[in-house]
Amino acid sequence: MTNQKVEPKILIVDYDKSILESLRKALELEGYVVDTAESGREAIDKSKALDYNLALVDVRLPDMQGTELLTAMRDTIPRMRKIIVTGYPSLQNAVAAINKSVDAYLIKPVNMNDLLGTIKTQLKKQFEELEYGDKQSWFCYYCGKSNFPERTTCWKCGHRRRGSG
Ligand SMILES: [Zn+2]
Repeated sequence: MTNQKVEPKILIVDYDKSILESLRKALELEGYVVDTAESGREAIDKSKALDYNLALVDVRLPDMQGTELLTAMRDTIPRMRKIIVTGYPSLQNAVAAINKSVDAYLIKPVNMNDLLGTIKTQLKKQFEELEYGDKQSWFCYYCGKSNFPERTTCWKCGHRRRGSG
């Protein structure tokens, strides 16, 4: 158990600057630490530097699909919760999102209560996973990044796992 109060870090990825700013303000008011990116590439770079608790990603980005971005970030931040936002609530999108193991799904224009509720639920699930499950993942002693259990070297810096062999 830990009592330390650490504000969850959220990465918002959207090509629309006005949406980025309004979401940022709303989430910062709730006490979250918020970062933004306007493209998939920028989001991937940021995810290499900081472990976000949750990503809120528009399905349509200038340089890639939001679902592609989430797949790419699975390696950099395996435990990050992933929410897809789309203005096109088609069944196709929904199926694609589920296939890419997206954790939740929101329709544009985003209802703020839905958004905050979804974020709270996802962060709670993440906390439960960290507390009770997923104990196999390991943290690199060198750079602090978390790694999937099947890896023997850190994906980020290449250092070998210390401890078990
Ligand atoms: Zn490392």
